[in-house]
Amino acid sequence: MIREHCGVFGAVGEGSVKLTYEGLKLLQHRGQESAGISWTKDGRVKLVKGLGLVGEAIDPERLEESEASIGHVRYSTTGSTTLEEAQPLGNDRISVSFNGTITNYFMHGDYPTDTEFILTFLEREMKGGKPLKESLKGFMDVADGAYSLLVLARDGTVLAVRDPRGFRPLVLGKINGAWVVSSEDSVIRQLGGQVIGSVHPGELVVIQRGGIKREQVFHMLGTTCAFEYIYFARSDSVIDGVSVYSARIKLGEILAERHPARADVVVPVPESSRPIALGFSRRSGIPLEEALVRTVYSKRSFIMPSNEKRNEVLKEKFGLVDVAVRDKRVVLVDDSIVRGNTMNRIVSSLRGAGAREIHVRIGSPMIRYPCYMGIDFPKRSDLLARSGDLRRIAEEIGADSVEYLTVEEMELAIGKRTICEACFTGDYPLRGKYDLSSLERVFSR
Ligand code: SF4
Repeated sequence: MIREHCGVFGAVGEGSVKLTYEGLKLLQHRGQESAGISWTKDGRVKLVKGLGLVGEAIDPERLEESEASIGHVRYSTTGSTTLEEAQPLGNDRISVSFNGTITNYFMHGDYPTDTEFILTFLEREMKGGKPLKESLKGFMDVADGAYSLLVLARDGTVLAVRDPRGFRPLVLGKINGAWVVSSEDSVIRQLGGQVIGSVHPGELVVIQRGGIKREQVFHMLGTTCAFEYIYFARSDSVIDGVSVYSARIKLGEILAERHPARADVVVPVPESSRPIALGFSRRSGIPLEEALVRTVYSKRSFIMPSNEKRNEVLKEKFGLVDVAVRDKRVVLVDDSIVRGNTMNRIVSSLRGAGAREIHVRIGSPMIRYPCYMGIDFPKRSDLLARSGDLRRIAEEIGADSVEYLTVEEMELAIGKRTICEACFTGDYPLRGKYDLSSLERVFSR
């Protein structure tokens, strides 16, 4: 399983702060380490943030009414779990919230995180006399990597920017007359709003009480992260015109067609692989059994920074319905395998419950390379599929067989060929060329 990165939400108009608070709660799946909201009051930017889930991190009593706010839920990929590094990051003049990773931030100076780089860059440009919008365009010029970025200025303007490749989603909408911008459109709809559409890759949007102004700063081919469709985003989201739910069903259908297994039951690893398993079950005719039960109140295992803590959490993460798998041949469907420790533990508990055979089918290609665009994969040597050898992978996780989708099959399911596939292919759609070993030193845990 993969750690998500972050979610952002912003609103300009009546009830802004409440909307941002509610929006962040609905984006909680994208980050559970910290949360924060900043808003404007009397010409100053104010901020509340804390560690944990939105409900733990932000005391609603401390929020004030305002017509402009931005917020953030975080899972860190650079930096650690500390309050200082929680977002929004800023001061009484400006604050920033972003989802992604600035791949080349360390080449621009000695910044503790890429968020610090963004803030320092913008402040420096503005001190030099540039308006915020121009400073942000200057930032887009020098920054490489993934950023769906919100900036709140003390005059109550929110600026929303999506990097030229559009690695992470960002969507514009309106809720009760207020303009909103959210990592995912499902949140806007759930809050009773109307989705206007994606902020386009390379686009900058200035959002003010009186309306929005859109400017296409870069014209490049968008390459949204394939894993937004496979794993990160909520199933009820639509990203750049593609329904995440339909893509997941199709991943499962193609998996069943091209990588079948003789089995009695299909078992999904909850939560995100459920539609993939449903697609597999429908296409293969093998019945679906919800044999793994996610223990509702446990946190996502990869919130935990160390292996030891992670394994502790894995133990309590899934319950197992023994009768659903006893004496059965099981197709175990998951969306991805990173290190393999979750999968190994699940396979051994299925065996312990009496499953006769376990065939693992994965609704994505093999993850063989790290990500430098906002997703926290370990270094290459810790990736289970680094060798590309299926027999060895099956042995390592203790399964009778393991098969993955190919890159072409995944594209077919998502219905798009212009997506980022770098963690499968090693071909990074970044603007600059980098020495990958130095990126690995900077970004891998
Ligand atoms: S490398 Fe993989 S996880 Fe990272 S942005 Fe590309 S597809 Fe997404």
